[in-house]
Parts: sequence; C-alpha cells; structure tokens
Amino acid sequence: MTGRAMVHYRRIFGEPIPRVPIVESRDVSFFAFGEDLGQTHGVSPLYFGMRRQLDLHLVEAAFANGAIDFTGQSGSLDLSTNRLHLQSGVLEAPIIIAADGVNSQIAHQVYGQAFDRSKIGFALEVEIPEMTDTELRIDFGAAEWGYGWQFPKSEGATIGLGGVLSRNADMKSALSSYLDRLNLNTSLRPKGQFLPFGDFRTKPGSGRILFAGDAAGLVDPITGEGIGHALFSGEAAAIAATSALNRGSPDQALNAYVRALRPVHQGLKHARRLRTIMFHERLRSTFVRSFQSSRSLRGEYFRMMAGELEYGTLIRQVATRLPGFAIRALQRI
Ligand SMILES: Cc1cc2nc3c(=O)[nH]c(=O)nc-3n(C[C@H](O)[C@H](O)[C@H](O)COP(=O)(O)OP(=O)(O)OC[C@H]3O[C@@H](n4cnc5c(N)ncnc54)[C@H](O)[C@@H]3O)c2cc1C
Repeated sequence: MTGRAMVHYRRIFGEPIPRVPIVESRDVSFFAFGEDLGQTHGVSPLYFGMRRQLDLHLVEAAFANGAIDFTGQSGSLDLSTNRLHLQSGVLEAPIIIAADGVNSQIAHQVYGQAFDRSKIGFALEVEIPEMTDTELRIDFGAAEWGYGWQFPKSEGATIGLGGVLSRNADMKSALSSYLDRLNLNTSLRPKGQFLPFGDFRTKPGSGRILFAGDAAGLVDPITGEGIGHALFSGEAAAIAATSALNRGSPDQALNAYVRALRPVHQGLKHARRLRTIMFHERLRSTFVRSFQSSRSLRGEYFRMMAGELEYGTLIRQVATRLPGFAIRALQRI
C-alpha cells in the first residue's frame, strides 16, 4: 500500500495502519531493461502486507459495523428495479455500489463486458515464504509496458510482474525469465488476475448503480496501484449515495460520485499518457540514462509511488531530460 492508500485508510477506518503484519520499506533498487538504475534510500515508505490478512481484517470490520454476509448464494440482479433475487429471498436497494472487482458481474450486466480485453492489464506473482530480509526492487520492462517487482513481506517475499496484456502474449514465461534473472528457482504456482491498467470508466455507473475500485477501472497504469483508488472511490460512492438519499433524490447520486472522482480520473489520464512516453521504444535509452544519472528523479518517482507527488510534477521533471519529439508529445498532455 502506498502513502496515498494509507491516508485514505486512516480517514475511513480511524486507525493509523491496518492491524495486520506490515513491513515498511524506505529503500528501493531500480532496474530497467536489465540495467541497474541505482538505489534510492530513506524515501517515503511503502507498506507491504498479505492481502488475505488485510481483506479478512476489512471484512471483520464490516461485519462489526452491521454488514450482512450473503456470499455463497447464486442470484440475479434485476437492473430495472435494483432487486437482487437470492436463494434466501429478495434484496432491494435504492442505490447499489458495485465493488465486485475487475471481473464485475454487475459491470458485465450493465455494459455487456466487465472490461475491454484490448486495453486490460494482467499481473502475475508468486509468494516465496523462505525469502526473508528481501530488498524492495522495481524492474521496468520486465513485462512489456509494465514492470516487475520484488516486495518484502512479513512472511517472505512476493515476486511478480504486470503489464498491458495485449503486449505480453506469454506472461507466465515472462515471470519465469524474471525469476531466473533474480536467480530464484521455485516450483511454486504463480497467481494472476486482470488489472484495469488505466482503462477507467469515465462515467462509472448507470442509473442508481455506482461502480467502485477495479469495477470502475481505477488502477494506475504505471504503478499498478489499485488499493488506494479502491478505498477512495468506495468512500466517495458511499458519501454520494448517502447524501442523495438524505435529500430524497437517489437519481442524483451518480452525478455527485462522478464529480468526486474527477481528481482521480485526471491523475489516471496523465499517467496513461506518460506511460506511452516512458515505454516508447525510441525513448528507452533516454529513460534509462535519466534514471541512472538522477538521484532526484528516482526519488521523485518513489514519492509519486508513495502518493506524495502528483503525475503533473513528475512529468515536468521527466520533460527536462527528453528529446524534442517526446516533449511535443508531453505538451499535448
Ligand atoms: C497480482 C496483482 C498484484 C497487485 N498488487 C497491488 C499492490 O501491490 N498494490 C496495489 O495498490 N494494488 C495492487 N493490485 C491491484 C489491486 O489488487 C486492486 O486494484 C484492488 O484489489 C481493487 O480493489 P477492489 O475492492 O475494487 O476489488 P477486489 O480487491 O478484487 O475485490 C472485489 C471483491 O468482490 C468479490 N466478488 C466479486 N464478485 C462477487 C459476487 N458476485 N458476490 C460476492 N462477492 C463478489 C471478490 O471475491 C473480491 O473479494 C494488484 C493486482 C494484482 C492482480
């Protein structure tokens, strides 16, 4: 989780960080296309934990605050009435917040597909329990239009990579090559999932249904960060729904929600355009040289990952080091 995600977490749940084992890291080693870009020390922290522990903690908090568990039942949603027909009965809600992830069944029902396969990303990772005291490492280009990672965890380390699916025909082989590069020999099975890598819905909802998190496509197209935006959008959808209901105008919830998401959409748009420049084949050597020679650029990138810096500022830093054609492309952003 980034610093940005932690700020949202703190505001929403009222505790400084989740009460699960977390490793904090302030040092990172950057690599790109096989070249060592250098290390950055003492930067803003990133927080690493196990998702199953975090998710269990959040589910328990939800139950403690009155949530009711209907999982395990098949059912069908009637979009015209917002009624969910379950085996145990019918649920009806004036407003539905669909936070059912990248494979959202509700998005499938509303839009005909949960995501656009030509734009979606995919990420794959393996958890290695015996790896302790692991350094935080980022490898740009370990996947096409994406990156590889080595994340320290309280129960070992997670090694993975993610990128745009249409540019990575064989993600499993890319992960094997990456593990070989790190001299890691493991027979553990990787786990993977689609990643809505910057392909967000500009109007995330329809009628009285609001989509949040991955179901709304809110994943950063460069860093792959989705937890922070999922937290923020879930909260924004809840606030929009509550105030629309309090005013007796549930149909207004979606417009209020879209307004609340504007800054997130703006950041994702910037990141999406910056990505086309970062991973442009002609700019690779410029990118590698800039990162190698500039400690401040590495630091700024990390601050952006930590959520302390917006993409606009990073773009300005990058722009001073780019050749003319790339600057012209950036000016159009
Ligand atoms: C390999 C990988 C690594 C990643 N690493 C990071 C990272 O380090 N940091 C980061 O910020 N982001 C990371 N992401 C992205 C991040 O996981 C997502 O953006 C984030 O989890 C989105 O949260 P969400 O609540 O929208 O969706 P999810 O976390 O997917 O939650 C959706 C939930 O809805 C449930 N669900 C779906 N359908 C139904 C149904 N019909 N009935 C009941 N329940 C249902 C699902 O079981 C799931 O629990 C990673 C993604 C992948 C694939």
